[in-house]
Amino acid sequence: MSGRLIVVGLGPGNPDQVTPEALAAVADAEDFFGYFPYIDRLDLRADQRRHASDNRAELARARAALEMAAKGGKVCVVSGGDPGVFAMAAAVCEAIDEGPAEWRDIEFSVVPGITAMLAVAAKAGAPLGHDFCAISLSNNLKPWDVIEKRLIAAAEAGFVMAFYNPVSKARPHQLGDAFVLLRRHLPGEVPVIFGRAAGRPDEAIRIVPLSQAESGMADMATCVIVGTAETKLIERDGLRPLVYSPRFFKGAGA
Ligand code: SAH
Repeated sequence: MSGRLIVVGLGPGNPDQVTPEALAAVADAEDFFGYFPYIDRLDLRADQRRHASDNRAELARARAALEMAAKGGKVCVVSGGDPGVFAMAAAVCEAIDEGPAEWRDIEFSVVPGITAMLAVAAKAGAPLGHDFCAISLSNNLKPWDVIEKRLIAAAEAGFVMAFYNPVSKARPHQLGDAFVLLRRHLPGEVPVIFGRAAGRPDEAIRIVPLSQAESGMADMATCVIVGTAETKLIERDGLRPLVYSPRFFKGAGA
């Protein structure tokens, strides 16, 4: 008897940014798997069960959720932001890919959520108004030299970049190293947005030029957006500046 597994994105942290589709999926499930803080965000009934686990345990968590669904459970795996962006949807797909054949019979679906870079971009104006990419700076799952190559390629190709997992206690130097590298490939005036805990009560948004960007301005709860040479800053009296990437690139239509 196969049950079902739904992977749900809970958005950046603000209850208003949880979609009605995500709320309906949560109401309809019985067993919940996820990292502690995301499980804590759920307002569950007495008949719904929590299976919270540590952040590093993604694959083990995915397998435990699939095992329960394979036995007929109505299982929900939760992620912050969007579950497909550096999160649990890929971990569950990996587990299905490598797991027993019967896991492929489980009814599987993904409910999208507002990802961190969109929540941060909305606070700053429209920095993602032109072509952009998202890069995780964590080298837990990929080597640092691959990250460096991608940073240089993205800077040279003119992509706005959103950095996820910019720093951690185990990786204190990487964001600083990334800024040093980017300063060789981008002008110093390029705006950098540090969006911390977007949508939560302790939200903090800071905008500095790339020449002054430092790793100490970010922590694990920060998404960093680095503009391009085209990204503009609109200064406003007594207000945070607006940052935007114009829709038109020079030579358009030629
Ligand atoms: N699936 C998540 C990302 C998980 S990776 C999403 O779609 O948002 C974890 C990283 O996401 C953090 O290190 C941080 O860079 C970013 N992040 C998550 N929530 C955030 C928030 N509310 N504000 C800013 N950055 C956030």
